Amino acid sequence: MDLRYSKSEEEFRAELRAWLADVLPKLPPRPDMTDWRARRAFDTTWQRMLYDAGYAGIDWPTDGGGRGASPVEQLIYLEELERAHAPYVGVNFVGLLHAGPTIAFEGDPDQRARFLPPILRGDEVWCQGFSEPGAGSDLAALRTKAVRDGDEYVVTGSKIWTSHAEVADFCELLVRTGPEGERHRGITWLAMEMDRPGIEFRPLQTIAGSTEFGQLFLDQVRVPVANRVGDENDGWRVAMVTLSFERGTAFVGEVLQSMELLSSLRALARRSGAWDEAETRHRVGRLGAELDALWALARRNVSSAARTGVPGIGGSVYKLALSEARQQLADLGMDLAGGAGLSWDDLDARDGSGPLMNRELVSTWVHSLSRTIAAGTSQIQRNIIAERILGMPK
Ligand SMILES: Cc1cc2nc3c(=O)[nH]c(=O)nc-3n(C[C@H](O)[C@H](O)[C@H](O)COP(=O)(O)OP(=O)(O)OC[C@H]3O[C@@H](n4cnc5c(N)ncnc54)[C@H](O)[C@@H]3O)c2cc1C
Repeated sequence: MDLRYSKSEEEFRAELRAWLADVLPKLPPRPDMTDWRARRAFDTTWQRMLYDAGYAGIDWPTDGGGRGASPVEQLIYLEELERAHAPYVGVNFVGLLHAGPTIAFEGDPDQRARFLPPILRGDEVWCQGFSEPGAGSDLAALRTKAVRDGDEYVVTGSKIWTSHAEVADFCELLVRTGPEGERHRGITWLAMEMDRPGIEFRPLQTIAGSTEFGQLFLDQVRVPVANRVGDENDGWRVAMVTLSFERGTAFVGEVLQSMELLSSLRALARRSGAWDEAETRHRVGRLGAELDALWALARRNVSSAARTGVPGIGGSVYKLALSEARQQLADLGMDLAGGAGLSWDDLDARDGSGPLMNRELVSTWVHSLSRTIAAGTSQIQRNIIAERILGMPK
């Protein structure tokens, strides 16, 4: 085993670093967090820049239009983007990180040709319509119904917590095509165009003050049968592919971001004097070890996805550990912020002694609350790990 980077990997890093140094200063200012139209424009512009430079879909297979980079190159890509503070995928999250990869793996050639290039170019944004008011953890209880009518499905029901639906062009939608009693066996995976008649979206406000998600009401929405990925009633299997991408690889870059946040917290602790307390040093050390382990796990998921096409069920271990580490990190930030953690607004001008401001700490903490819920709760990940990985009884 040669653990050094090869010459071509070093070249890849150098080229990417030079490109980032060139383009990042030319980006427009980041939009207000609550202006979703502007956020879409910013995120899709960035995606287009990646596409034009040949970096879009770094982990996607080449026959799906992606770069088909090796696992090592994928990790270098993430490291360099984080190092340069490049924008995150933003509203392209679903399209790039799980709907697109699902279509690349499960779609037919026509679907790959229709759906994948616009995601890579930043032309089309996707959202995820899996959860319903009565089907979250128990996703197989979903009731949104699709009835076949010639070459179309007629879809009626409701989806909830649909992130970015307000600015999405397509929705990866799970519908019931079989009788309700059939649970997993009667589900189908559809790509639903979001401007179809019969779709109503009502935003829901989060504790962070943002309407990043909402509820979708679907009243006899027509979806072409050609937009069905996988067979009718085989959508549960396809959804498991989607979830393995969502849990296994979609959040890989966040480990690096968390490592950077931890080093800022260490600097903050030194400035504030909290570093003198053994407990603070212990928490920082423990989190550092946790994040190192998560990075190793992330590398394993990326390698496994590159080898087999999908990250596999081990993604649940990663999702569970990352979201819980993220909460501990956010708790540490709030403890270090002290009273300043009670304010959304930055209380101090940046004094050059550190980049971290209380607004960032509060925002990280508030957002971290949802991390152990979104993409499947921690309890559900523990059930999956116990039953399906460790083989324990239900
Ligand atoms: C920020 C955010 C973004 C989201 N974005 C999307 C999106 O874009 N698209 C989408 O489809 N969904 C989205 N979701 C929804 C998310 O997938 C669900 O919230 C999640 O699956 C939990 O479902 P629920 O909210 O209905 O909670 P419930 O299923 O009602 O769970 C309530 C509690 O009971 C526990 N519980 C339930 N069943 C069991 C069990 N068998 N064993 C042990 N404990 C159990 C849960 O762990 C939880 O603590 C998002 C959620 C959040 C927070």
